[in-house]
Amino acid sequence: MQQIPAFAGRKLVLFAFAAILLIWGILALDWWSINSHSSSELDGSSGEFMGVDAPSWGFLLFAIGLVATLLIVEGCRLLFGLREQANRQFALQRRMIDHAAEAMILTDAAQRILTVNAAFEQTTGYRASEVLGLTPTKLCEEHHGLNFHRNVWDFVAEHGHWEGEIWDRRKDGSIYPKQMRIAAIYDDAGLITHFVATFADISETKAQAERFDYLAHHDQLTNLPNRLALDSHLDALLDGAVPGINRLALMIIDLDNFKTVNDSLGHHSGDRLLAELARRMGAEMDRSTRLFRLGGDEFVVVFDQLDRDNAVVVLVDRLVSVIGLPCEIDGHSLHITPSIGISLYPEHGRDGLTLIRNADAAMYAAKAAGRHNYKFFADSMNAAANKRLHLESELWRALAENQLVLHYQPQIDLLNGKVVGVEALVRWAHPVRGMIAPADFIPVAEECGLILQLGHWVLLTACRQVRAWLDAGIDMGEMAVNISAHQFRQPDFVQTVRGILAETGLPADRLELEITESTVMHGVDAAIQTLAQLKAMGVRLAIDDFGTGYSSLSYLRRFPLDRLKIDRSFLADVDTDPEAASLVTSIVMLGRSLGLQLVAEGVENFAQAEFLRTLECERVQGFHFYQPVSADEVIGFGRCEDYAVLPA
Ligand code: C2E
Ligand code: MG
Ligand code: MG
Repeated sequence: MQQIPAFAGRKLVLFAFAAILLIWGILALDWWSINSHSSSELDGSSGEFMGVDAPSWGFLLFAIGLVATLLIVEGCRLLFGLREQANRQFALQRRMIDHAAEAMILTDAAQRILTVNAAFEQTTGYRASEVLGLTPTKLCEEHHGLNFHRNVWDFVAEHGHWEGEIWDRRKDGSIYPKQMRIAAIYDDAGLITHFVATFADISETKAQAERFDYLAHHDQLTNLPNRLALDSHLDALLDGAVPGINRLALMIIDLDNFKTVNDSLGHHSGDRLLAELARRMGAEMDRSTRLFRLGGDEFVVVFDQLDRDNAVVVLVDRLVSVIGLPCEIDGHSLHITPSIGISLYPEHGRDGLTLIRNADAAMYAAKAAGRHNYKFFADSMNAAANKRLHLESELWRALAENQLVLHYQPQIDLLNGKVVGVEALVRWAHPVRGMIAPADFIPVAEECGLILQLGHWVLLTACRQVRAWLDAGIDMGEMAVNISAHQFRQPDFVQTVRGILAETGLPADRLELEITESTVMHGVDAAIQTLAQLKAMGVRLAIDDFGTGYSSLSYLRRFPLDRLKIDRSFLADVDTDPEAASLVTSIVMLGRSLGLQLVAEGVENFAQAEFLRTLECERVQGFHFYQPVSADEVIGFGRCEDYAVLPA
């Protein structure tokens, strides 16, 4: 591997010449002394040679000999120096090769290993002495086949190099992937004299890449393949699918009211619930079905090799029943139901995107039809999905163009029939579609983030309204305003309320904020802090729709509340169903034991009102008394003199 520089070569020639000169000098001296001796002996001359006398010749030859000797000595020194330098350089190169991170093999033209470096020994576990003379192919893992190796060497012979990934076997028998580069070394005539192969063990890099790939294609919570994996799975299935021959079904499974669980019990419980349901659904999958998690509480099942639609229905039934089994999560027994939308290939779409979109529309239709059911896609469903999108863009305009209005529903004191408060209920006065109920647009506003602006507008308008009534000498009691969870969790929510009270000059005790159970049960400590700050300001606090969430009694005690609003669903059968009656009785008792005032919502008839009166549930709200009406109309309801005679 070492080379002697060109100038050193020239010096060597010079020294060789000097050596010849010396030999010539000695021979010449020898020849001269013989000649001079013989001639002086013969003719008695004084030993003169070509006009130069003998001592001068002697001196000249001596000088030549001396110079030549010096030159030879210097030449030898240089030669040995050069060799030493070459040895040093060679050792350095060897060390460099041995310190290289990559394993190296040097072979002769017949691919017999001549030398290997330390990294080779480390990577393969073979000592150099064990592999010298072997061919690298002998050390390789057989799974590539002989042809593969032959092709590689042929490629190197033809192109001078080859690079790629190879599986190899270490001395201990373990198999590992390596990134390898083979280069041919040529002589001056262009013939291959050696091959150099360098390689590195890439099992770690490969494992890492596989880990990244796994993470990119799997959901960490449930370990299910994710949306990305779903897309590639569908691409692979549909790539070679022939309409009329192949059929597949795609179902989107959305958990009903999952948000309530998440909000009430916290994300941790929500996550455990999702993981458990994923496990149960996963156990229902077989070779022709595959489960994915789209995100949140949405799952997808792809059913390929579908021979009859009935098979989908059978699977849906199985999934609904395993999801419906009670889940014991953090001391709560949760009952979950799904809404499922199904699209079929090729009827409802021939590409993955269309199948997903249409199954999604079918899922929304299942939800709209009362949840806990499934629907196959139908063309009319796309119209509903479009309507929803349209609604979202219209809602932005509604806010900007003041199309929202507040209606007010009075709350009555059952003991004296007086209006003691009103609840502000938002409506959308749509220029074409007329008055739209909050249930039709509040969920959309919550989804698209508009709820913050909408909520702010409601709070400000309601406070301004009470201020205006007070200024006009009208006392409608407290103004109850519904606060959405997203609004309540804004870090500056307390500040916003304080600002609005200051801006409108409304006494804080005239404002009541209605918050649902799920809003406060999520992040309990933060909720308690917010509630305490509001309470300290003098604002009244009520839990709305009480009984529909997952309140924990121990937490309820910690919330600085004023009222519980019993959800209207509990009141519905209270006059006919003894069980419903005892449920409401126990809610009233519970509220009382917590020192809270009770408000019954949705009182629709006299019997319900009477029942509540016997329970001494003093505050009521419902169509039996008043419907929500505009601000101008509501001031006419100062007092309900005899609630019993009001129209049912
Ligand atoms: P909620 O806060 O529980 O409001 C009471 C709902 O019950 C109102 O429906 C009201 O009209 C209705 N209601 C009152 N008495 C009766 C009755 O006797 N029978 C029946 N069947 N219903 C009765 P509305 O106005 O459609 O509001 C529905 C829900 O929309 C509200 O429920 C509340 O959760 C939400 N909402 C309304 N306005 C706002 C708002 O400004 N902000 C937020 N975040 N949500 C609001
Ligand atoms: Mg309310
Ligand atoms: Mg309510």
